[in-house]
This record gives sequence, C-alpha cells and structure tokens, in this order.
Amino acid sequence: MSTTEVAKPSAVLPVLQDYAAIVGEPEILELRELARRVAGRHVKMVNSTAVGGGVAEILNRLVPLMEEVNVPTRWEVITGGEKFFHITKAFHNALHGAPYEGAADWFETFLATNEENRRRMRFDEDFVVIHDPQPVALIAERNSGPHRWVWRCHIDLSNPNAQVWDFLKPWVDRYDASLFSSPQFTRGLRIPQYLFFPTIDPLADKNRDLEPEFVRDVLEKFHIDPARPILTQISRFDRLKDPVGVIRAYRLVKKYEDCQLVLAGGSATDDPEGAAVLQEVEQAATGDPDIHVLNLPPWSHVEINALQRGSTIVIQKSLREGFGLTVSEALWKKKPVVASAVGGIPSQVIHKLTGMLVHSAEGTAYQIRFLLANPSFAKVLGENGYQHVKEHFLLTQNLKRYLVLFLVLLQGD
Ligand code: UDP
Repeated sequence: MSTTEVAKPSAVLPVLQDYAAIVGEPEILELRELARRVAGRHVKMVNSTAVGGGVAEILNRLVPLMEEVNVPTRWEVITGGEKFFHITKAFHNALHGAPYEGAADWFETFLATNEENRRRMRFDEDFVVIHDPQPVALIAERNSGPHRWVWRCHIDLSNPNAQVWDFLKPWVDRYDASLFSSPQFTRGLRIPQYLFFPTIDPLADKNRDLEPEFVRDVLEKFHIDPARPILTQISRFDRLKDPVGVIRAYRLVKKYEDCQLVLAGGSATDDPEGAAVLQEVEQAATGDPDIHVLNLPPWSHVEINALQRGSTIVIQKSLREGFGLTVSEALWKKKPVVASAVGGIPSQVIHKLTGMLVHSAEGTAYQIRFLLANPSFAKVLGENGYQHVKEHFLLTQNLKRYLVLFLVLLQGD
C-alpha cells in the first residue's frame, strides 16, 4: 500500500464558456437563457460529506457553475457523531437491499442528529436540495416559508429494506419533488419524481486531458509497469464495490495473461467501514506484487485521472451501485469498461456497444480476457462510450436539468 503526495491541481477553475469547445456553443447559449430566468433565486445544497464519493464529486463542480450563472448556491454538509454515520451507513446498505439489524433507538438518534443540524442551519433560500437519506429529516423546517424542497436520491431504491424505507418515506413525501438517477430506482411516492443522471466534469482535474508522459510518471510513481496490461478499479473501499471479487476475477485472468491489477480508493467521511474493508483487500492481495492497492487521499484527482488513462481495461464490479460515476469517468477517457449490471451502470454501459456488462467474478474474468485478446473491439467500445458520456453524462446536462427543475417548481408562484 502507498499514499500519494498532493498532486498539483489546475490553477484556474473552468468557466461555463470553456465547455463550448466540448458541448457546442448552442448548448451554452441555451444554458445562459435558462439561467437568466432563474437568476437571483437562491439555492442550498445539503449532503453528508465534503469529500469522497460521487455526491461530493458532483457538487464540487456544479456549485461554482450555478454561482457563475447568477444562481447563488450554498453547499452545506451536515455533521454527526460516529453513531449517526454508523446508522446512516446501515440505512444505505439496507436501502440497497441488505438485511437491517438496527437497535431500537437508531431511528430516534437519526432524527435527533437531523434536528441538531436543522437548528444550526438556516433555510431561507428559494430552493433547498437535500441529497440522500442522511439529511432527509431537515424538511421539518419547511413550515416556515414558501421555499421549494427537493430530495435528490443518489441510491438504488428498487429493492429497499421495508423497515428502513417505511421510516424514511413519510419524510420524503413532504418534499415538493424527488430526483432519481435511473427510472428503475423510483418508489411509489406522493410527490413528482424526475430522472436526473449524475454527471462528470470533463474539465476537472479528474477528467481533463493529460500528457502521456504525466500518465507514465504516475504509473511509475506507484510502481505499475506500463508495458504490461493494467486492470483498474477506482472505488471507495466499500464491500458493495466488491474489491475482493475484483481480485478473484484478476486471479482467473492472471492464469493466462501476465497482467496487473490496480485497486485505488480512499474513504468518505460519512463511511465508517472503509478501514476494515481496506484491510480485507490488503489481506486478499498479500503475496502478489502485481496487485497494487492504493489508499489515496481525497485530493488525488489528477492521479486517479492518470490511473484511469493508463489502464488497459477499467473494471467496476459493484454488487450494488448508485450510478457509478467511475464508469462515466472511464468511458470519457475512451477506456473499455467491464462492469456489473447493477444500479445506474446499465444506463452507461450498453452491453457490447459502450462496454461489457457482467454478473460474476467469472464473467468479469471472461470479458477481460476477451477484450485483451480483441484490442480493436475494445477500442471501438471506448470510442462509443466516450460519445455516450458526451451526450448524456456531462456537467452541463446536470446544470440544465437543475435550471429546468427550478423553473418548473416556480410555476404557480
Ligand atoms: N473517488 C475518488 N477517490 C477515491 C475513490 C473514488 O476521488 O479514492 C471518486 C471517483 O473518481 C468518483 C467518485 O469518487 O468520481 C465515486 O463515485 P461513484 O458514483 O462511482 O461511487 P460512490 O462512491 O458515490 O458510491
């Protein structure tokens, strides 16, 4: 295991106009026109971690763009003790279908922490967007004004544990609208539900173009051999990302191909299980110098970018998934992707067109071997994947959806 140094981030944040080179001038004009109609309205975004995971990744870039188009946006992060985040992690797993064995006082503790945060925060914006279940009960504040409250759910709710969902649902039903990352994730709710794909920022350090020399330097820094195939999964060390399953798949491939495996990840402040999972992964990797387990600090965006670009194949073998931004990131870099058909991944990976969908470690190994043996097909998958992301999963799309949503919610004022 190694820990990387601080990479130099790009000095200047991109502005909206910079995206014209990627999505075209008409798209930028349309965004400006929409923004003009929402300008001056204030927005608050609330989630439970400032670093780690896809939600923080999105908000980091969406918030400055909203500000730029004169929709002042505050991003606030709720605080909570160890017990609260232990509970919310159990909720998260249960909403993804895992068994739930919460203690009698967990719902009470959850609500008490929400209440503490509610008292600490002010809610005088026109739109309050609450991300995921952790802060869902902040809606208790809504009696005090004409604000619009939106619940943005980033997780797959298609098969939730009934006990946890029955507890959360009445809170969700108090919102004005809900946003889901896939049509399959929605539940029967009393409020409108909208489809919002998560998106990546093509100009952020995580995704911008890099010099091949820089990519090689990063590989070398981590002692990865650029001359042999590199299989990579980038993910928080979380059992639902199945890093040990990735090692199993790699071992099946390794019998036939002299390849290397990179498992690069970090932790999120709202995920208390990361250290234990990292330990399991390190144990599973023991004795094989071609498995690189990299525990990266949260600012390693350029390194992750380089690891993705330097990979021969990118894997995302999740057991459950919200959307799986890492898949969009890899596709944007024209990488052949082998990924589980779970959560939002099938929206991104269209089997045999923009990547390969799998259902097991054996299937993962099979598709990796197939792609290693058919590099020209792998290249076509990467090209198609890039186009697919360009059309659906870029930051400008997300900005547009929020602006349109706000306009819809303003109707009737
Ligand atoms: N990520 C990161 N460092 C890590 C692991 C992941 O910056 O060590 C980023 C990754 O590049 C992606 C996001 O965190 O942008 C993960 O989002 P995803 O939707 O794939 O999964 P989540 O963590 O939200 O379940």
